[in-house]
Amino acid sequence: MVKTTKLYDILEVPPSASDAEIKKAYRKLALKYHPDKNPDTGDKFKEIGHAFEILSDRDKREIYDQYGEEGLSNDGGMGGMSAEDLFSSFFGGNVFGGGRSARQGPRKGKNLKHVLKVSLEDLYSGKTSKLSLNKNVICSKCEGRGGKEGSVKKCSSCDGTGVKVIMRTLGPMVQQIQQPCSSCGGEGEVIREKDKCKGCQGKKIINERKVLEVHIDKGMRNGQEITFTGEADQSPGIEPGDVIIQIEEKPHDRFQRRGDDLYFTAKIDLLTALAGGQFMVKHLDERYLVVNIEPGEVIKPGQLKSIPQHGMPSYRHHDYGTLFVQFEIEFPPSNWIDKQTILTLENILPQRPVLPIPPEAVTEEVELMAMNDEQQRSASTHMNGAEDEEEGHGPSVQCAQQ
Ligand SMILES: [Zn+2]
Ligand SMILES: [Zn+2]
Repeated sequence: MVKTTKLYDILEVPPSASDAEIKKAYRKLALKYHPDKNPDTGDKFKEIGHAFEILSDRDKREIYDQYGEEGLSNDGGMGGMSAEDLFSSFFGGNVFGGGRSARQGPRKGKNLKHVLKVSLEDLYSGKTSKLSLNKNVICSKCEGRGGKEGSVKKCSSCDGTGVKVIMRTLGPMVQQIQQPCSSCGGEGEVIREKDKCKGCQGKKIINERKVLEVHIDKGMRNGQEITFTGEADQSPGIEPGDVIIQIEEKPHDRFQRRGDDLYFTAKIDLLTALAGGQFMVKHLDERYLVVNIEPGEVIKPGQLKSIPQHGMPSYRHHDYGTLFVQFEIEFPPSNWIDKQTILTLENILPQRPVLPIPPEAVTEEVELMAMNDEQQRSASTHMNGAEDEEEGHGPSVQCAQQ
């Protein structure tokens, strides 16, 4: 039961109203009765401000509910913060000029974003990383007051708001300009030097090193975020923001990842490509997959094959994606074979095709010339730029040297 409902009546809310409802009511009424908008409503604006100042403060509201306004008389009754300053600190600056929009809810501190580079191995197997950060925390010695209890006084020059507000009229617009109060350095309160807290030198906050344990779960993706709610900087009267860790997947020298699938380039020798054999894939958890190519199956350069269930684990469910393998065939060098063996090859391999030249066509025999690296590169960009570019994506060369 409350002693009197006068202040609630002014804000047009029931005594059971929540903080949010009180804020909402003040917002609506203060905008409606602001003297810039509604100059003929007398003290109504001041009354609304006064009611809100008390009902929005948990301690003051409790005293008011129990004893009525008399209980608060020490506080100066209608004094306290001026209705105008309260209004501008609530809405923040220029209101009727149409600039900024009104602030709602409790003020929340800035979120702190941190990018964490994670190897594909760690995204495959999961890992716990320790991350240390420096952050501001409320001083525990003074509980964020900045000094001994009762030693912190409201700044009389700015009435505790920390800002001086100047109203300026520009045609139909009313602009409010805020300046930090020079007497208190924008703090809104003053503490005598000798009463300042020794722990924080009156700053209310201290810097502290904090170690966060970041659980990299199997299958997490590039760009995924892990949120530590309320772990950002603390500051008196502000709900601390979150620390957000964003995963950045490091590029890998053997695998490329797309979703839960992995892509691998396997370089195999010509004999294995033609007559079967084995190749291996060194996986992300240090296993070596040994893959069979059946004798008789012919693997062509650039051919793609898949190995199901050997890609990345999916996030949460840990179902494994597909491991795709693209083949490069390593051919033997020139002159690896003698003339006699060439005859054997001619007997084994399919016959050379007959060139499809019309019988009446004029023919001319020409020679192939070797090119140096520079000439090769230049010619290849002109010939098939796209294919050449694609080579840049893949781990085509390194992966052969396992
Ligand atoms: Zn302190
Ligand atoms: Zn001041």
